[in-house]
Amino acid sequence: MSFQRVCILGSTGSIGCSTLDVIARHSQTMAVYALSAYSRMEKLAEQALQYQVQVVVVPDGDAATQFIQAYGKGSLPEIRIGEPGLIETASDSAVDTVMAAIVGAACLAPVLAAARAGKRILLANKEALVAAGGLFMDAVRQGNASLIPIDSEHNAIFQCLPEASRHHIISEAPKSIRRLLLTASGGPFRTLDLNDLASVTPEQACAHPNWSMGKKISVDSATMLNKGLEVIEAHWLFAMPADKIDVVIHPQSLIHSMVEYIDGSVLAQLGQPDMRTSIAYGLGFPERIESGVGLLGLTAMGRLDFEEPDFERFPCLKLSFEALATSQAACITLNAANEVAVDLFLKRKISYNDIPRVISNSIERVVGMNTPALDCLESVLGVDHESRIIARGLCSSAA
Ligand code: NAD
Ligand code: MG
Repeated sequence: MSFQRVCILGSTGSIGCSTLDVIARHSQTMAVYALSAYSRMEKLAEQALQYQVQVVVVPDGDAATQFIQAYGKGSLPEIRIGEPGLIETASDSAVDTVMAAIVGAACLAPVLAAARAGKRILLANKEALVAAGGLFMDAVRQGNASLIPIDSEHNAIFQCLPEASRHHIISEAPKSIRRLLLTASGGPFRTLDLNDLASVTPEQACAHPNWSMGKKISVDSATMLNKGLEVIEAHWLFAMPADKIDVVIHPQSLIHSMVEYIDGSVLAQLGQPDMRTSIAYGLGFPERIESGVGLLGLTAMGRLDFEEPDFERFPCLKLSFEALATSQAACITLNAANEVAVDLFLKRKISYNDIPRVISNSIERVVGMNTPALDCLESVLGVDHESRIIARGLCSSAA
């Protein structure tokens, strides 16, 4: 690929900062054109100055004022505002590559715009595929965009699946594949006494044993809802039916996922648990570039363990498989109700065990309703919105 101009949506987050770290190692072949953030304007200003970006996107006028104050002297980048600003930037003709690293449903509209504009999309956000997988994959095909998954499991599968890396998008599950095996660390509560789950704190839930990540995804790793979202992601990315996707707990997080072929071969991708490997793979593709990630100390680690996931300990994983088998509306609600419940758990308004309860009851309500055809962003966001209202109601009765 020739010189690459990158837009990072969600640059102040964990993935955003790792992306900037990788880009800084390749200033001859890539530059940052645009950044976006929702809060922490000082951080955004610091990044914008360091990388000399042309455009920043901030949520509103107040944030713009804070950004300008924090930026200090020097020629300001263009400041764009809110969702229209994100959409304009994700489809800007000056942008080659869009790193989609906004957390949650807020990434949906900009990433759809990037797909329609035929960008090279590095997709870290998982909610876009979970809530609107069909719509998004159609937009990628129609816009002739290319799509490289950054979530480490899907990036691993992409690396182990020549069809995916050759064509970027798979329309039909290759017959040569017996199943995809998504690995999961099991999170901080893998061995905790089941009776103690009711009283775990947000700090304990966020203390992931292997990965350093944003708070919301850290809680999702503890409940394994994260793995559930990843099963749905894999279904859309690799056109794989749910019964050909399995989850295996692998506490060391060194194998990032595997593809099992019908001839008995299993291809795995291994590496340190550091997102810069997937990010560098996405930025460099089809070349391999330096990421700053250290060597894998296999002999120091010594062993690789595997366990079956236990649905009693991880009811959110079971709910995810069920949602995928039920309907797209169920998947939208799974994601939306989880966002609401995790937010309130982090604010100590509900308990850890309320999270699966709220999700399950929300799905039951939404599936019982008459939902519209989910063939456009507005109808997807409508079900998302409705699900959040239902989940908030359930949370306040749980609190
Ligand atoms: P984070 O919370 O650290 O950062 C989120 C970023 O999005 C920030 O820049 C924030 O300002 C911005 N943002 C938040 N709400 C917004 C809104 N309403 N509108 C616009 N911008 C908003 O999150 P993260 O851990 O970097 O994760 C980003 C995405 O990547 C998530 O979807 C997550 O599931 C996915 N992901 C993360 C990891 C990881 O290791 N962190 C791994 C795989 C996938
Ligand atoms: Mg992952």
